Amino acid sequence: MGYQLIDAIAEFMASIDSKPVTTGESPRQLQSILGMQPLPEEGRSADDILSRATELLFNHSLFNGHPRFLGYITAAPAPMGALADLLAAAVNPNVGANILSPIATEIEKQTVQWLAEFIGVSPDYGGLLVSGGNMANFTAFLAARTAKAPKSVKEEGIDNASQRLVVYCAKTTHTWIEKAVILFGLGSKAIHWIPTDSRNRMDNKILEQTIKADFAKGCTPLMVIGTAGDVSTGAVDDLKGIASLCKAYNLWFHIDGAYGIPAAVIPELNHLFEGVAEADSIALDPHKWLYSPLEAGCTLVKNPNHLIDTYSSHPVYYNFSHTDDVPPQNYYEYGFQNSRGFRALKVWLTLQQVGRNGYVKLIGDDIALAQLLFDLAQNHAELDAISHNLSITTLRYVPADLGDNLENSESYLNTLNEGLLNELQRGGRVFLSNAVINTTYCLRGCIVNFRTSKKDIEEIVDIIVSEGRKMHQKLSAQIATVR
Ligand SMILES: *Cc1c(COP(=O)(O)O)cnc(C)c1O
Repeated sequence: MGYQLIDAIAEFMASIDSKPVTTGESPRQLQSILGMQPLPEEGRSADDILSRATELLFNHSLFNGHPRFLGYITAAPAPMGALADLLAAAVNPNVGANILSPIATEIEKQTVQWLAEFIGVSPDYGGLLVSGGNMANFTAFLAARTAKAPKSVKEEGIDNASQRLVVYCAKTTHTWIEKAVILFGLGSKAIHWIPTDSRNRMDNKILEQTIKADFAKGCTPLMVIGTAGDVSTGAVDDLKGIASLCKAYNLWFHIDGAYGIPAAVIPELNHLFEGVAEADSIALDPHKWLYSPLEAGCTLVKNPNHLIDTYSSHPVYYNFSHTDDVPPQNYYEYGFQNSRGFRALKVWLTLQQVGRNGYVKLIGDDIALAQLLFDLAQNHAELDAISHNLSITTLRYVPADLGDNLENSESYLNTLNEGLLNELQRGGRVFLSNAVINTTYCLRGCIVNFRTSKKDIEEIVDIIVSEGRKMHQKLSAQIATVR
């Protein structure tokens, strides 16, 4: 059965570009395909249930490995990752404790060290693999709170911090920050949102003014979060500038590099990532630009003792601390999880299969394709090219003849592009997502996909234009009827 499944998977991967990106079936349709059977009373033939599961997944999924999937930041998964997950599940090491996962713990340590080298920080950074970017950011956030809040907070709780604890980040910061301040007791007002400049980067001048004003008010600033590749436009904050402000005001410097920081591997882009090596902590997501299958995130901390200070405890029922040589590394002491799977294996194997130079090529290709999408949009009479950073391009459809819609053209274009995106997403020929930049509704393509080619990008542009024309026709007809 295993051999059959592997054959089916190989066939699926080889022919993925001949399928639609998604079938666009509704939850109701899918429920009727799945059926409403109750929990099985008796066991069933493994052969039957595996072939049914294979059939369901291959015929009713959205494929983020499809060459024309450019939505959100969801990568095409490396086939090596699928094999790695199978191997990891078969051996099933519990990477919470060294004694339960002897070689897996060493492999995870090496993976963490390689990831640090990959993005150009000292290999002395320590950390661990987690499920994704949100968890990687949370893990670092609590370590920052432990390090920078008054020492009483860990025992007495947040109430006991006599001064208001605050954190800083740009308006463009991913939604994890809103969960983090609730989760760790600071409250949503603890986020001091900093506006962005004309290139969508945190305005460091306003950042400094805000920090100064907060100190004057008697607040306790804890940390600044810089983003290396924001989710909407891929902009990278001025990390070097943030690093020197953090040094000057004794704040924790965290970088959310979940999407963009792997681009630091490209020598020509080094200037964008200056300051990375000064971060106290960094979140990155191997399940994005390193092409791991879900789930794999990683927290890196300059001084990993901050993780121990935050997360370690020694219950009597654990006999985990004895080995012959150096003290063992027990990953349950580094983060939130206790029992932990071996998600490091897929990252470790893919890093070896592709190598640094392979990633320079793959990530560079993705960036070049995003540039091509931008250029094609810029040169097309019916498209507006709006932004391009890293491998994210935003654009919108603008009909040649806006007709009677001219007076409210901006709001008409927003409605038109939103309708167009919904059509495109359901249609299954291409999958884009959206960005709202200032008040402009944009179509957004993010290429973290080793299968996407130049030809795909050219076809995508044709699809956007032809569907855009249809949507314009439909909407103008509707408006005409109303009038
Ligand atoms: C994707 C992303 C996240 C969230 O990561 P998940 O893996 O989806 O949890 C956070 N920050 C940034 C900048 C991201 O791109």
